[in-house]
Amino acid sequence: MSDPLIGDILDAVRDRGVKAVLEYTEAFDHVRLSPDDLIWNPLAEAPAVIDPAVREAVDFAMDQIRRFHEATRPAPVTVNQAPGLILREVFQPLGRVGLYVPNGQFPLVSSLMMTAIPAQVAGVTDLVVAIAPRGHVTSDPVWLYVLQKLGIRQVLRVGGAQAIAALGYGLPGLPPVDLIAGPGNRYVAWAKQELFRRGVTGIDVIAGPSEVLVISQDTAFAPLVALDLLAQAEHDPDAKAYLVSWNPDLIAAVKDYIASHVNPADRLGQIEYILVANANEAVQTANRIAPEHLGLIGAEVEPLWPQLTTAGALFVGRLAGQALGDYVAGPSHVLPTGHTGRFLSGLSTRTFMRRISVIQTEDALPAAFLEAGQVLAHLEGLRYHEQSLAVRQQLRGQEGL
Ligand code: NAD
Repeated sequence: MSDPLIGDILDAVRDRGVKAVLEYTEAFDHVRLSPDDLIWNPLAEAPAVIDPAVREAVDFAMDQIRRFHEATRPAPVTVNQAPGLILREVFQPLGRVGLYVPNGQFPLVSSLMMTAIPAQVAGVTDLVVAIAPRGHVTSDPVWLYVLQKLGIRQVLRVGGAQAIAALGYGLPGLPPVDLIAGPGNRYVAWAKQELFRRGVTGIDVIAGPSEVLVISQDTAFAPLVALDLLAQAEHDPDAKAYLVSWNPDLIAAVKDYIASHVNPADRLGQIEYILVANANEAVQTANRIAPEHLGLIGAEVEPLWPQLTTAGALFVGRLAGQALGDYVAGPSHVLPTGHTGRFLSGLSTRTFMRRISVIQTEDALPAAFLEAGQVLAHLEGLRYHEQSLAVRQQLRGQEGL
């Protein structure tokens, strides 16, 4: 965490609760809420009525996201390790989960679908969603439609670090959560990391300001490549977009396209052009950057995808723009940023599940397990470990015990 303010916000919400949440909301969101406005139940409202074309697109996206997450939900595994030794790996959904949905610069209704659906497919039933009070979340029919379709009963109308603190420490009527998932700006990402560091809640991934890296070679794709760079850069002035190529003509064509299409008033993130010597160097550069999204456009570069090992998500093929993944392809668009793709993966049903190993024995357990365990316990000087196994060795095969 690199902003001392975030720690102060977390402390203030922990110590002064609702009062601090309202003060920070007024300071950062310029919205004056009353304590009664903080928590909202979309299911208590009349059913949302929205434009049929929007409803169709939302329903289509939700179906795709659900299909993918149902197909990739982890299944329990049973291993018959030896006679009398049955080992299992089972998965249990988390208890109470907080989902952060960005609503600062843009209302990311898609992030609501991309977090809530994996959580629900994982089996989480107690969900609270935090959305900053920008615009009119409570009266906007599209937010209402999606929240109602997902069956969300609790929305915290707060954004930023103060929302993360409220989810983690709880407020009256808002019990603390076990895990906070979902993307957000740098304040949100820092606050999640700091709560995790304090041992208050689990977090999903460090999903901060968006990033894309595109590898391409063919100048014919310059407009597609430029639009993919711009599509990430438009998220946030903190967003980052990289073009990696060993064709200087493509880099020049993309620069020209961007210069002639972008309005200088647009608040875009940073775009970086990296000229490499060959495909091998392109792969090494991409793996070092570990971008959130990595696009491969053109027949010359698409076969490189198995060598790309650190991206949050790969987009292979000229129709696979990152915006397809942002909305409708199926996998969650909540992905690791800030080089954390080297050790973190994007949000999935696994994010919302705990894995438990089960060691189950029957009397047929071979003596070798108890004997080897005693030798190792003796080696480490752990007397009662050794004895607990020795007693079991005597029990083995005794009837009626
Ligand atoms: P947001 O909801 O994340 O943040 C808005 C909140 O930030 C406001 O409610 C306010 O309270 C707080 N804030 C604003 N200025 C502040 C300041 N100076 N100090 C403290 N708090 C302040 O919405 P956003 O700002 O639009 O950001 C959304 C982010 O989510 C973007 O960076 C986008 O790239 C990112 N994103 C990432 C992913 C991913 O998977 N990595 C996916 C979607 C979006």
